[in-house]
Amino acid sequence: MTPLLRQYQRIKSKYKDAILLFRLGDFYETFYEDAKIASQILGIALTQRQKGVPLAGIPHHAAQPYIARLVRAGYKVAICEQQEEPVPGKLVDREVVEVITKGTLLEPALLDDKSNNYLAAVKQEGKKFGLSLLELSTGEFKLTEVESEGLLNELTKAAPQELLVPASLQEEINVEIPITPRGDYEFTYEVARQELIDHFNVKSLRGFGCEEFKLGICAAGSILRYVKETKKREINHIRKITPYWPHDYMIIDEPTRRNLELIKKIGGTEGEGTLLWVIDATKTPMGARTLRNFLLAPLKDVDKINKRLNWVEEFKNSTDLLEEMRILLAEIPDIERLIARISLERANPRDLIALKRALEQFPKINNLLNNTLLYEEYNLEEFDDLIWLIEKAIVDNPPQNVTEGGIIKPGFSKEVDKLRKASMDGKKWIASLEQRERKRTGIGSLKVGFNNVFGYYIEVTKPNLKYVPADYIRKQTLVNAERFITQELKEYESKVLGADERLKKLEYEIFSRLRRKVAEWTSAIQVCADKLAKLDVFAGLAFCARRYGYTRPTVDDGNKIIIENGRHPVVELLLTEGDFVPNGTQFNSNEEVHIITGPNMAGKSTYLRQVALITIMAQMGSFVPADKAIIGVVDRIFTRIGASDDLARGVSTFLAEMNETANILNNAGARSLIVLDEIGRGTSTFDGLSIAWATVEYIIKHICAKTLFATHYHELTGLARVSPKVKNYSIGAKRYKDKIIFLRKVEPGPCDESYGVDVAKLAGLPRSVISRAREILRSLEIGERRRALERIQGSRQKNLFDTQVRSPILEEIDNLDINKLSPIEALLILKRLKELFEK
Ligand code: ADP
Ligand code: MG
Repeated sequence: MTPLLRQYQRIKSKYKDAILLFRLGDFYETFYEDAKIASQILGIALTQRQKGVPLAGIPHHAAQPYIARLVRAGYKVAICEQQEEPVPGKLVDREVVEVITKGTLLEPALLDDKSNNYLAAVKQEGKKFGLSLLELSTGEFKLTEVESEGLLNELTKAAPQELLVPASLQEEINVEIPITPRGDYEFTYEVARQELIDHFNVKSLRGFGCEEFKLGICAAGSILRYVKETKKREINHIRKITPYWPHDYMIIDEPTRRNLELIKKIGGTEGEGTLLWVIDATKTPMGARTLRNFLLAPLKDVDKINKRLNWVEEFKNSTDLLEEMRILLAEIPDIERLIARISLERANPRDLIALKRALEQFPKINNLLNNTLLYEEYNLEEFDDLIWLIEKAIVDNPPQNVTEGGIIKPGFSKEVDKLRKASMDGKKWIASLEQRERKRTGIGSLKVGFNNVFGYYIEVTKPNLKYVPADYIRKQTLVNAERFITQELKEYESKVLGADERLKKLEYEIFSRLRRKVAEWTSAIQVCADKLAKLDVFAGLAFCARRYGYTRPTVDDGNKIIIENGRHPVVELLLTEGDFVPNGTQFNSNEEVHIITGPNMAGKSTYLRQVALITIMAQMGSFVPADKAIIGVVDRIFTRIGASDDLARGVSTFLAEMNETANILNNAGARSLIVLDEIGRGTSTFDGLSIAWATVEYIIKHICAKTLFATHYHELTGLARVSPKVKNYSIGAKRYKDKIIFLRKVEPGPCDESYGVDVAKLAGLPRSVISRAREILRSLEIGERRRALERIQGSRQKNLFDTQVRSPILEEIDNLDINKLSPIEALLILKRLKELFEK
């Protein structure tokens, strides 16, 4: 093995879980397994350096896109650089300078402007979990403590790109997030706490208000250690750690987030069709990220909600304020990530100019806010000194590259000016040389040129060689000409080149110093970035409120949800024909259950979601699509959708549906809002019906939460007779000649007909199928429902009644005493029967 490979092996052994990019001159090389992976993912050639050593390389000056691809593919990338100038015959010292991982990204090209890129860490103790989240690209750092269900909610909400866990916990954590196991030791309280205390340079963590979260501190400490280890430097832009209490926010669990299509469509895509798509009118990346977080974590505190609503209202009420604010905000780049890059010494000259341009808007924003309620809370610090410093030091249109010069403005550094003058004078002298030498030698075609090998030269064509003066020194012979230098030319050349070289170095040094200076303003700029983000969110929400005709909801601690003429914010925009028909909702207490019946396609699902969305919008501080809304604060929203409506999850999900229903029954409380859309649909009619019935009964008896239940089981309307808490509503349709017309209006009372057959006809089913269906329907209607259904479903259920399998399943059913079963027991038995049946 060569010394080089030995060096490689030694370094690689410390970075086993990463692809090691090993700097060799102008290339980053990968070896062995890494080379195979790299060649496959990057589509680059796999070669052999020596026998049995696979190798694949990428050019170092264009490495970024390759690194990006590796990271996106889920790999960690360790960058190993040469630590000294190469000397022939000697092994260059090399060291890993950074490990790039998904959870610690800083490269703007790899980050999404509009969402956070969190790194998470979890520490468990019994039923409790400490959780910490860090976004390295902004410096946002927080911690909390939750129980296991809460952990899943918090994790799916933050959607971290990477999760650190103690190695001993690795097997137990079952999430779809890439896991990086770390030594248990790093998660111990003393070690983690010390890490934080050292980093923040404080005596205790009391100042941050997080001492009570012991497990959270364990997680947070491990995060800091990991980041310092991967980035190989101090992380000075992380200036604080903030504890948070999940109970301060409305809980929207993962299925609900998905069903309501808050930020992603049910199919998983972002953008059009989601609530975020409708209400995001922000102008800055900070604003977009904040809005997203507001949406995923609506508030419960009435005062805080009303404060937000006040800010939105203030913008909404003044066209001038709103429009001018949005114009100013549009000029502001992602200063939150900018200042982080500056602090981490990653920023380039253009970043500093971008920061300066942003800071120049601050006085204008303050001016605009003056005399508004917003001023006191959101006025911005002004940074005249900083603006002046950047203005004086950096040219207006600097290059992106930090080592190629052209950065520093004339007048800022005497030394830079002197070197520039020397270079310039030399170039001038050389430029005038051609004329002078032509005159002196009488050779009219004499030329002065430059190439990278010989530097400056004087070129004379062959016929004129006889006129060449004696002081010319021959350098190179071409076909038709010869090239010369003179002593004097060489002297000027080395002056020019030397000056240029020194200039680049000096400019880089000055720039670096300036960048460190600017980093001293990190905290102050972070505060402003946060204020701007919120101003942007409020202005954006006000803009939407005006554009779509939203009104301010009344949010209080009462038990009511009353909505007049509510609309579904997304469906109303996407409707291709006709106008959206608004509908009201009236929950006068926590106990009500509204059963909504109506034919397929009537608008049941739309109506249910509309109520949930309006509630979420109100509690996040947004105006709502309704003429009027009174929202008594809700602590959780649950939504479940019958399996066959939930296309994304395929067919055999009845069990999942039941799990989710069980989860609601176990976790909902009186202040929750429960939205059930055709649950029980994933199974046969009678199972489904009984489950639905039992679920509603349980909610009425044990939970007493506001519930919306859409169903095509007409029989459920009978529940209203059993309990006064149950109210029937329906969305009707009218038959007109051979067609069916949907009315879209939610009316009190049950729906009288199912219209299913009519809808089938609408969908273009063959005539014979329709008439057969009508026949069956008729036989159902004359009381033969059960037998007829068995006949229809005969083929599927037949083997249930075969003699061989008959015994275990039927016997169990036979032995059941339905009157003694709780709904949960019934579910469990049903689950077992189904498993038996599927065998
Ligand atoms: P259901 O759940 O009853 O089968 P959906 O809620 O899925 O019906 O609604 C079906 C379609 O009807 C929606 O995609 C939408 O285009 C339209 N729709 C629903 N509600 C309304 C409404 N209030 N006004 C206008 N169109 C509506
Ligand atoms: Mg539906």
